[in-house]
Amino acid sequence: MDFTLTPEHREFAEAVRSFAAAKLAPGALERAHQHSLDRGLYKVLANQGLIGITIPEEQGGQGGDLMSAVQAIYEVGLHCPTSADIIQAGNFGAIRTFAQYANDEQRERFLPGLLSGETIIGLGMTEPGAGSAVTELTTTAKEDGDGYLINGTKIFGTHSVDADVFLIYVRFGPGTGGIGSVLIERGTEGLNFGQPTEFMSGEKWCQLYFDNCWIPKENVLLGEGGFKKQISGFNVERLGNSTRALALGRYAFTVARDYALTREQFGRPLCEFQGLQWKFADCAVELDSAQMLLYRAVTDLDEGGLPTAYNTASAKLAANRAGFHAANEAVQVMGGTGYSQESLVEYCFRRTRGWMIAGGSIEILQNRIAENVFGRRFDQRKG
Ligand SMILES: Cc1cc2nc3c(=O)[nH]c(=O)nc-3n(C[C@H](O)[C@H](O)[C@H](O)COP(=O)(O)OP(=O)(O)OC[C@H]3O[C@@H](n4cnc5c(N)ncnc54)[C@H](O)[C@@H]3O)c2cc1C
Repeated sequence: MDFTLTPEHREFAEAVRSFAAAKLAPGALERAHQHSLDRGLYKVLANQGLIGITIPEEQGGQGGDLMSAVQAIYEVGLHCPTSADIIQAGNFGAIRTFAQYANDEQRERFLPGLLSGETIIGLGMTEPGAGSAVTELTTTAKEDGDGYLINGTKIFGTHSVDADVFLIYVRFGPGTGGIGSVLIERGTEGLNFGQPTEFMSGEKWCQLYFDNCWIPKENVLLGEGGFKKQISGFNVERLGNSTRALALGRYAFTVARDYALTREQFGRPLCEFQGLQWKFADCAVELDSAQMLLYRAVTDLDEGGLPTAYNTASAKLAANRAGFHAANEAVQVMGGTGYSQESLVEYCFRRTRGWMIAGGSIEILQNRIAENVFGRRFDQRKG
């Protein structure tokens, strides 16, 4: 399989790298500890052409391919994790599912704001009783006049504290076939927010409560039967998660390697101790292998131009593990310095940990991969 980068991809990656090194690396540590969405930074990245990379030009996007978006997230992630989160949100988050399935009227209403950074979109899929078993979601959409009444609760949403509009997975009817999605704007009567709390990474989230929240029919993104489409769109989101895990793991690895070259104990630099060399050797191979699986997932697409579930699950599993392992070992190699908030290494450890849970936990990915291994489906539900 050929997944060599084209000269255009290399040129683009090089340009993003120079921009990120000059403009985003300074201040990256402070940004990682800010814990709130930096809308000014979103606009800077939008002006730089790094938002909506895969959205067609006629819709206001950059008209690029998946590999270009992955390169952008990766190169930015190597310099500033917070900026990489914004590139993810502006390319592979709910914006991508929205752009793919919205009708013309919805695109006209929301896309210009989403692409310029004026509007932030959040994704509401997870519920208190429906995490990995997302098809058990109970948030309902009941027809009411010219619209729908939404009732239910969503948790753990990225940007739930800041988003202006939410793409919410809802149930129009029974079973997986009854699931679709709607758009709900902040300020809509019946949408209430819980007290913000924080993940281990410092990222804020809050519960979303829908209490007889009425929305017009124009706000339905995908009606009954939309779940399959939403989930294939979500494979792209998983690749963005994988790319950031790789970038942060690689960043921590590089900082720890440079530290090991200069820090001396027992009269020798740390890199001369074989016990530490082997950590670096293992992490180097894990990061490289994960990167290749990511490139396979990005280039070996299905007929609809989307990554396949198997390739995505393999890439995310490998990247989540490699990124976290590299960050964890980097903390260890750097001792007290690695564990301290003076560098981004401990942040990379905390951030990469979350991606083993978010967007399909590593166990759920393993379940999906096992289905390919055995060539059959394993229903996780109690029989
Ligand atoms: C940083 C972060 C950002 C997130 N952002 C969003 C967002 O923007 N929008 C959104 O809707 N949600 C978001 N989530 C929620 C995320 O999608 C869920 O946390 C995830 O799907 C797991 O669900 P859960 O937390 O309820 O865990 P559970 O589903 O309760 O799982 C608990 C544990 O059991 C394991 N497990 C469950 N079922 C099986 C099985 N069949 N086989 C083997 N192991 C199993 C899981 O892997 C996990 O280790 C985010 C989460 C995190 C951590």
